[in-house]
Amino acid sequence: MTLLLDGVTLTYPDGDGRLTALDAVSLNVPSGSLTAVVGPSGSGKSSLLAVAATLGTPDRGRVVVAGTDTGTLDRAGKAALRRERIGIVFQQPNLLPSLTAAEQLTVMAHLAGRRNVKARALELLDAVGLADQAARRPHQLSGGQRQRVNIARALMNDPEVLLVDEPTSALDHERGAAVLDLLVTLTRERNTATVLVTHDRAHLARLDRTVTVEDGRLSDPTRP
Ligand code: ADP
Ligand code: MG
Repeated sequence: MTLLLDGVTLTYPDGDGRLTALDAVSLNVPSGSLTAVVGPSGSGKSSLLAVAATLGTPDRGRVVVAGTDTGTLDRAGKAALRRERIGIVFQQPNLLPSLTAAEQLTVMAHLAGRRNVKARALELLDAVGLADQAARRPHQLSGGQRQRVNIARALMNDPEVLLVDEPTSALDHERGAAVLDLLVTLTRERNTATVLVTHDRAHLARLDRTVTVEDGRLSDPTRP
């Protein structure tokens, strides 16, 4: 189990009290598998990704990433874990307008102090079907292509855990389906433990497993 959430409760300050965004959530995501998370708006889906990404600290429970109990890490330790072990894809591909597709990938790895990153960037752009678009800048790419660059960038440091929040929300049905197929393929090829938040129920049949979040609680129809 490469990603494990064990009895995770997460609250936010809310006036005089606290709002419970996640209520004793447990989830186990093995390497090479993809778990889809669905649920109404405000149910806690992004909060679940935030604790898995060590961007939110649980009030109770454990988050274990690639064997490391994140509760034992300080701020710098969490930042290093995110950089080296976790790939994060947000809803909007926040690409830098002045950089080419290849540079969007290499700049991250350069910041992490790595060398010889150009070849890896080109290999990943090829893996997401953009080998011939490496020299293009964001305004020269379609929405679907930008989201593919976003996904390739998240894989740059070879993460064990891949967290993806509503990647198809800005895409039409067909391009959305293509991005989900790509995520399934990458999960298998790169052996990541992938969690995908999606509102797009039309495509769920092609995914390994779907869990539903409602009011911060998780239910898994495949395991009653
Ligand atoms: P979803 O992604 O399913 O739409 P979220 O995880 O974003 O849901 O939000 C779950 C609940 O937590 C909602 O009630 C939301 O308003 C609240 N919430 C999310 N982020 C914050 C925050 N930073 N501060 C306070 N409340 C928040
Ligand atoms: Mg959300």
